[in-house]
Amino acid sequence: MDLGIRGRQAIVCASSKGLGLACAQQLAREGVNVLMLARGAEALEAAAQAIRAETGVNVSTIATDITTPEGRAKVLELCPNPDILVTNAGGPKPGDFRDWSRDDWVAAVDANMITPIELIRATVDGMIERKFGRIVNITSASVKQPIESLGLSNGARAGLTGFVSGLARQIVSHNVTINNLLPGPFATDRLTQNAVVRAKASGQTVEQIQNARKATVPARRFGEPAEFGQACAFLCSAGAGFMTGQNLVLDGGTYPGTL
Ligand code: NAP
Repeated sequence: MDLGIRGRQAIVCASSKGLGLACAQQLAREGVNVLMLARGAEALEAAAQAIRAETGVNVSTIATDITTPEGRAKVLELCPNPDILVTNAGGPKPGDFRDWSRDDWVAAVDANMITPIELIRATVDGMIERKFGRIVNITSASVKQPIESLGLSNGARAGLTGFVSGLARQIVSHNVTINNLLPGPFATDRLTQNAVVRAKASGQTVEQIQNARKATVPARRFGEPAEFGQACAFLCSAGAGFMTGQNLVLDGGTYPGTL
């Protein structure tokens, strides 16, 4: 299936590993030129090189922290007019809300709500002028089904979701869409690191922790990042112009509701 986006230009944030990398890979396979970014240069360059070798598209990189104004300025200087924007960054720390200070909340809102909004603000008018734009925010299944220990994430990501829900309706007549992808458990470094921390705390093995988690997923497994990348590429496709303001949950059936 040709997604009709060959030759388009994308910015894919936080993309040296995990879900962001899977989105960059799949977009590149569809012929999209990508600007990839992450804080660590080594993994970023290795990931970009692998995508160049596989797909032959134009892949540029910048090692920067996307949650800072300076980081965003560097990215936008390199790529001021993207057709596709995939927002992503690391998630906030877990814990008990009684222990979180105002600074913890500001950091979470800054990284997971204001950062994507600032990137959208800087790029959406160009998309409107060019009559094509696809914006995908990587959020979390916790937006629909809050995770007890991840209050900072539940709150900040829900704030982003509310904002873009309103904006999506204002810009879709220009063939510019905004949708959110809500990952449940995907087999990435982040998920493994969480399991290692839980294993240490509980005296169980990492495998025991992961098997217990998988047992809570109707699919009885974790998602593969490639599955996430393919959903992202579909939302960015030319044919997805009538789909906007949606929250697509990829969680192996974990969310228990009918709708
Ligand atoms: P991951 O495997 O740890 O990869 C994170 C990627 O983001 C890396 O490339 C990392 O590179 C980059 N990154 C992190 N913070 C950054 C920053 N401030 N600026 C630029 N790049 C940054 O994580 P993941 O599993 O793909 O998760 C991606 C997002 O989805 C996170 O927000 C996570 O909370 C959310 N999520 C994931 C799952 C899951 O099961 N995997 C479930 C729900 C939600 P550097 O460290 O070098 O910067």
